[in-house]
Amino acid sequence: MPENLPTHIQKVQETARQFIAKDLLTLESAIDDETDESRISEIRESVREKSKQLGFFYKTQPEDCGGTPASTLELTMLRELFAASNLRVANDIFGPGPGILANAKGELKSLYLDPVIRGEKRGAFGFTEPDTAERPTWARREGDDLLITGCKTYVTGGDTADFVSVLVNVEKSDTEAGGTAMVVVDRNAEGLVIDKKFSSLDGSHHVSMTLKGVRVPVSRVIGEMGEGMPRALGNIGNVRLQVAAQATGICMWVINYLAEHLLAPHRSGTPLGQREGVRLRFADMRIDTFAARSMLYRTARLTDTGENVVNETIATKVFCTETAGRVVDMAVQLIGGQALVEGHPMERLYRVVRSMRLMEGASDLLRINLVKGCLELGKGRL
Ligand SMILES: Cc1cc2nc3c(=O)[nH]c(=O)nc-3n(C[C@H](O)[C@H](O)[C@H](O)COP(=O)(O)OP(=O)(O)OC[C@H]3O[C@@H](n4cnc5c(N)ncnc54)[C@H](O)[C@@H]3O)c2cc1C
Repeated sequence: MPENLPTHIQKVQETARQFIAKDLLTLESAIDDETDESRISEIRESVREKSKQLGFFYKTQPEDCGGTPASTLELTMLRELFAASNLRVANDIFGPGPGILANAKGELKSLYLDPVIRGEKRGAFGFTEPDTAERPTWARREGDDLLITGCKTYVTGGDTADFVSVLVNVEKSDTEAGGTAMVVVDRNAEGLVIDKKFSSLDGSHHVSMTLKGVRVPVSRVIGEMGEGMPRALGNIGNVRLQVAAQATGICMWVINYLAEHLLAPHRSGTPLGQREGVRLRFADMRIDTFAARSMLYRTARLTDTGENVVNETIATKVFCTETAGRVVDMAVQLIGGQALVEGHPMERLYRVVRSMRLMEGASDLLRINLVKGCLELGKGRL
């Protein structure tokens, strides 16, 4: 539950509230022209600077890269709180994290992880295969190299990334074992072709790419050969909890926004909040959000124990994002047509929450994984 946080996290929470009230609101209101890119990047830089001064920036970064990593509970509280501010500038608070490169050593650390943490390089994640793929992306060994062939789609930020961490199936050779591997491939590597750039309705940008025998040294395999899928899913697990925290934060903002609307005068002469039918809908939104937040904080606390929380994280991601979908949808309904007008905050949130039920695992696929965890692997708590 979000209550009874340890004292040190409560202090961080208070600092974050003041950061929102004193700095972020002012910086957000300074965005007067959405198309003025140089002004927007100046504002984003101010957010990062202030976030560094207050220490938030470093909370997502590993200690051996100069960061001061926060616990999952602390990060979950912060992500939810910032999402509940519904400020676009809140997207720039945290420094780039290691993601799939966590604990990378040697060349992978010096060439990729360190520059990512310093903000000098950006990576993308190549996991999803297009439906048209004849065979999942695969690689064969040639000496100390891998030759990678296949296609990936929905690679977010793939157009501007410096490298892509790609999930491949490595063929076994006479002397070496095969299996899945996450391999770092430079975006400008010979044979990597961007086939298509596209945007999704939440405003994010993606690419589809083909890898035509791209040659990569075996040293670019993250971790061990054969560990690709568990690594990819481990990384996705962290991101799923982030998405869940963002979803409950959005629910909180929407509920407060809607409460004001329900109390305001309505043309019928009776504020909407006086109508029983409206009250019932509002009650459901609050009940759902209460349940979602309880789940989110329970899973965050369990994650910090180091125990297996794959099933709990799946359950939380599905429930919190589906709750956000229902809450935003009902808020649009209760606010009426004005909520769908371009530029209205609900119109943007409607698009944002819709993508959450697909990104980092579609809800039904996660349900199926959850049941496999329970029936075949004996995992998962109630
Ligand atoms: C905003 C956004 C950002 C993304 N970023 C990335 C990224 O950076 N990198 C990346 O690799 N991918 C990314 N993705 C892709 C995302 O991971 C996939 O969209 C998601 O995993 C679902 O896969 P799919 O789209 O291929 O749908 P499918 O797997 O085809 O599933 C479609 C639907 O079919 C049904 N279904 C499918 N399989 C089953 C089954 N076995 N049993 C029952 N029902 C089933 C479900 O209802 C499911 O929702 C992103 C997606 C979005 C929306």
